[in-house]
Amino acid sequence: MNERELIQNLMRDLPSNEQVVVGAGDDCAVVDLGLASDWVLFKIDATIEGVHFTSDAAPEAVGHKALGRCLSDVAAMAGTPSCAVIALGLPHSFDPAYVQAIYQGMRRLADRYHVALVGGETSLSPERITLTVSLIGTVSKDRCVRRTGAQPGDALFVTGELGGSILGKHLSFEPRLAQANWLRAHYDIHAMIDVSDGLATDLRHLMEASGLGAELLAKNIPVSQAARRKAKGNAGAALQAALNDGEDFELLFAVKATDCVTLKDAWAQAFPELNLRCIGKMISDPGLKLRTQDTLREWTQHGYDHFA
Ligand SMILES: [Mg+2]
Repeated sequence: MNERELIQNLMRDLPSNEQVVVGAGDDCAVVDLGLASDWVLFKIDATIEGVHFTSDAAPEAVGHKALGRCLSDVAAMAGTPSCAVIALGLPHSFDPAYVQAIYQGMRRLADRYHVALVGGETSLSPERITLTVSLIGTVSKDRCVRRTGAQPGDALFVTGELGGSILGKHLSFEPRLAQANWLRAHYDIHAMIDVSDGLATDLRHLMEASGLGAELLAKNIPVSQAARRKAKGNAGAALQAALNDGEDFELLFAVKATDCVTLKDAWAQAFPELNLRCIGKMISDPGLKLRTQDTLREWTQHGYDHFA
């Protein structure tokens, strides 16, 4: 059974209550705990040695990633993170300095985004280090962005550059909180997701949630230097990496096509250091299509699957 099938099975008939605004199937759960103008965002992510980092990774970067993954999901809902708890699993013979350094990486990122670390638990994990971070945040009820609201004809944008994150970015990415909040404050963002499983796979999530298809323009996809390096100069392989590699932690979102020009200009003023590309559009026909020069073909490859 692959990851997608597993998640579909587990999501069936989950217990719910009247406080749930958005249950499983978006970047964060959204719950109404009676705050006047805000909903609460709720998120958990596990970061496992041998899966999300290798034993030779810098421990500060491991801590950065463990918390950063949650922050990226809060960004995808245009929310603000508040506080996190951490469950730490360690082998019997752990190195205290290594663990301190993991926490140093988490602390630094938490400080930057004014996130409190408010507790957790430690456990023996015989074979490998595991870090599980659970985080709550808030989002203004009239500003929450889901995956479901894309419309046919919407322009699709992506921040930053994609592919080849295995060469370093997966441990050093910056969660796009400032950008997501800016976007939502200035534009009617119809749907948004963070690119964690690969552009093609995360776009499919957005398409399915919105009941639409999408068409990507190959030459507009921002292929990273790392993707080119990984592909050793093969342009086709580099594009494939940009479409399928995971853990870029960039934002993918849909807006009205008529917003494109002002958005590009305003973005360049607000975030001159960060690339923003219009990579395609949402369409009524189902499926993901890739346009290269004169040809339009179905893109059927998928990104990372833990159990495939
Ligand atoms: Mg996500």
